[in-house]
Amino acid sequence: MSNEQQVNHGDHDSESEIQPSYYASRAKAIEALLVQKGVMTTNEINSEVNAMDSKSPADGAKIVALAWLDDSFKTKLLANASEALEEIGYKLPDETPYLKVVENSEDIHHVVVCTLCSCYPRMLLGRPPDWYKSLAYRSRVVVSPREVMEEFGLRLSDDIEVRVLDSTADLRYMVIPRRPLGTDGFDQESLAALVTRDSMIGVSDPLSAHF
Ligand code: FE
Repeated sequence: MSNEQQVNHGDHDSESEIQPSYYASRAKAIEALLVQKGVMTTNEINSEVNAMDSKSPADGAKIVALAWLDDSFKTKLLANASEALEEIGYKLPDETPYLKVVENSEDIHHVVVCTLCSCYPRMLLGRPPDWYKSLAYRSRVVVSPREVMEEFGLRLSDDIEVRVLDSTADLRYMVIPRRPLGTDGFDQESLAALVTRDSMIGVSDPLSAHF
């Protein structure tokens, strides 16, 4: 390669590094319009983004651990998640989409997807992983859920019924995975440490799970 080619190649690279991506440009344009039209202020947008960034799967894991420990909390959580969460001091934002919590058992296994885009219980789990947004996951998990779960390392016996839940902008799902055996006497913190993000989506079991 000649020096000139090397220089050009280098220039091209540095240029692409400083160019914002299509999505970054689009987000910036939408943000500018929201502010310009008086729909939201910049401060309101920033505080929404900060609130979202402050959430992580650790939030969901604490809730799952409490549900494993406290049957009456779990019953309420399954019946009306927002109310149950508010009772433990976990106030969801007013504009939060309806949240449905489901429970995996030895008979039924739920796995969550958004076939249309990337709807996800962000208020409990933070941002979704990239694979959740991929066309491959969104299209395959509804057709061959067992095969997809096997790729995540979860092999379900044939007598377990698999239910694939399709999320929407108005309805989000979170899964309470099965509590691993051998965890009697564990406190909330130790149990929460076993609850992975993927187990709350339903594509895997909690850590050290053996049933
Ligand atoms: Fe979506």
